[in-house]
Amino acid sequence: MEELLNGLNNAQQEAVVSTEGYVRVIAGAGSGKTRALTHRYAFIVNELGIDPSNMLSVTFTNKAAHEMRRRVKKLIGGEQDTGFITTYHGFCVRVLREDIHRLFYPKNFVILDVEDQKVLLREIFEDMGLKMNDKTFKRILDKVGMLKGNTHYVQQMILRGEMPAVEKAGDLDSQIIQYYLKKQKRVYGLDFDDLLNFVFVLFEQYKEVLEKWQDRLYYLQVDEFQDSSFKQFELVKMLSEKHGNLFVVGDPDQTIYEWRGADPKYMVDFEEYFPEAQTVLLKENYRSTPEILSLGNALIQNNYFRVDKDMTPINPPGVKVIHYHGKDEIQESKWIVQQMKRIVEQNQARLSEIAVLYRANYLSRFIEQELIAENIEYTIYGGFKFFDRMEIKDALAHLRLIAVGDDLSFNRIVNVPKRQIGKKRMSFIRQKAEEDRLSLYQTLKKYADHERLQRTGAESFINAIESLREKRKTMKVSELLQEALQVTGYEAYRREDGDQQRLDNLAELLHSIVQYEQTLGETLDLEEYLQMLSLYTDDDREDQMDSIKLMTIHTAKGLEFPYVFLIGVTESVLPNVRALRQRKERALEEERRLAYVAVTRAKRELYLTESEGFQNGGQKKYPSRFIFEVEDELIDRIGEIDEGLMDEAKEFIKASHHMDITSPASHYEKGIRVKHPVFGEGTIEDIDEKKNNYLIFFDQLKSPRPISRNFKKLEKL
Ligand code: ATP
Ligand code: MG
Repeated sequence: MEELLNGLNNAQQEAVVSTEGYVRVIAGAGSGKTRALTHRYAFIVNELGIDPSNMLSVTFTNKAAHEMRRRVKKLIGGEQDTGFITTYHGFCVRVLREDIHRLFYPKNFVILDVEDQKVLLREIFEDMGLKMNDKTFKRILDKVGMLKGNTHYVQQMILRGEMPAVEKAGDLDSQIIQYYLKKQKRVYGLDFDDLLNFVFVLFEQYKEVLEKWQDRLYYLQVDEFQDSSFKQFELVKMLSEKHGNLFVVGDPDQTIYEWRGADPKYMVDFEEYFPEAQTVLLKENYRSTPEILSLGNALIQNNYFRVDKDMTPINPPGVKVIHYHGKDEIQESKWIVQQMKRIVEQNQARLSEIAVLYRANYLSRFIEQELIAENIEYTIYGGFKFFDRMEIKDALAHLRLIAVGDDLSFNRIVNVPKRQIGKKRMSFIRQKAEEDRLSLYQTLKKYADHERLQRTGAESFINAIESLREKRKTMKVSELLQEALQVTGYEAYRREDGDQQRLDNLAELLHSIVQYEQTLGETLDLEEYLQMLSLYTDDDREDQMDSIKLMTIHTAKGLEFPYVFLIGVTESVLPNVRALRQRKERALEEERRLAYVAVTRAKRELYLTESEGFQNGGQKKYPSRFIFEVEDELIDRIGEIDEGLMDEAKEFIKASHHMDITSPASHYEKGIRVKHPVFGEGTIEDIDEKKNNYLIFFDQLKSPRPISRNFKKLEKL
């Protein structure tokens, strides 16, 4: 017991021993919420003698669940089953495995990811003889998602034959969707939405199943609770109804899944749902240096829709946060890698102590190239390396087929998009190739008008490749690639998919070749380029080597690293372009929360980097507003931004100013008694007009707190 409570401060200890009832811990990044939750789990098992199978601990990502299991095992010993430390989806799978037969599905149902969903759709379009036009897949899948916003469809879906009517989806779309659901049923496939919905239906229709789980789960805990959606909240609420023990921890400032239905109100208004609830506040930050913490706090204070909370750093002072501005991405990445080398040498740091974070996957490319050039190991988490991504491999296969004509590239793209060259015809081609000792491509060319290959896209494919081979003599590699993606229909095919990420990646590939050509000065030779790239794709990842960590901010949630480089801190990237287009304060605030999450991952040193030039969409790059809306003394700036660029940046930011702040400042006077949803009752001590804050002395706190006058949940008593 000593051991479990040692290394926790008083508030954390309180959280750990408050095992009964409804308890929320609300606190900033790095204040030890997850640590408290992990120790509480161990406390309940070791000190209360509760079996781990009687406790559910929900976290947000598989990686986080994995990490928590590791930490808990250290505390309670390795033999115990920690299967109930899991994600919402993971828990649903456990429930369904036991009882899904009641809904006429087999225990070994299949879980469908987005790629699987698209494969199904592709089959459907073929069956129905439909052309895939712009964004069809995305549109259909969006509508399927909408249909699955509630559980009505499940009832109908599980009873054979009857299919739900689809509202607001024209005749053809609803036909497609119905067919899709039928197909899904035929393969006994459940997508991510289905997992939760099926559990709800199961619980609703079979009370005994719900009761079984309510009985079983004496204690429930949820990490990152601020990112729970309505359904997820309902689920834990429902499960907790019998024993009444629910423990949640979170930080409303780290809500980064609002776009996917997350709502921090379940955290903020916890007491409204559970009037008896107890609240624990953690106020010390154990993760970061005071410098990093001050920057995080200053940044997030620019959000209107939030509850202010301040934190004291426990760690001694370190070095200042650095903002580096490069003239282009190459300079930016070169500088970063130099810093990494310095860190490793000077501080005897391991590579794995260094993380590179970014807003979107495609941003990793430059840094990857530089790391490869410098022979530094790296690992990409929660995604693929740039040159490993399917669409990049496909695009390069086009070039290789033009230059080399190898079978591998041929196999990769001959039937992408669909050219009716399926398994049977492929085996025919293979057999002929064997007989004639030709490559597959040569074989296809030779037998293009053979009866077995009639009514396929073989001929037009060959024509495209041949014309490209001709053009290769005069075209630059970048032009050739662009042309290839067009005449083969590959780009159109990706466009139909509607997956913007893939299109962005393709644009980024083109952009990189153009740049390469520019810096080279002489003509870039296609074969040479391909060879150089095959070094990039030749990877030996996933080994337990000591390597730099690369990941998106979303993936980094809940994690921490001694050294953090946040790259691409550029307008239209962070905040991203969709948030700017929406012109809504809320969308911008979610971006700021993302920046806050990124910044607060750092323990010892933090670098914010960006550079000039153009984005792959062709728009000029400006440094993000987020690095200028904090006091200057919080950041050391390196690299020169000329005034012209700065002025343009300001114009750009002004033009995308967010206009919809509708909540007017409240007008309480000094001395008035107020009630706050988290801090409880207090008195307004002072008003700071400049910062638009009240200074409030809350009865249960030792020092006053600045609360925004725009904060809507401050009631007058
Ligand atoms: P986030 O909001 O980012 O998820 P968190 O509140 O969950 O952060 P933790 O990850 O639990 O924070 O803790 C941050 C770091 O501080 C960890 O390295 C943790 O081990 C350490 N830490 C937490 N509490 C204490 C404590 N009382 N004494 C020493 N170190 C602590
Ligand atoms: Mg945490």
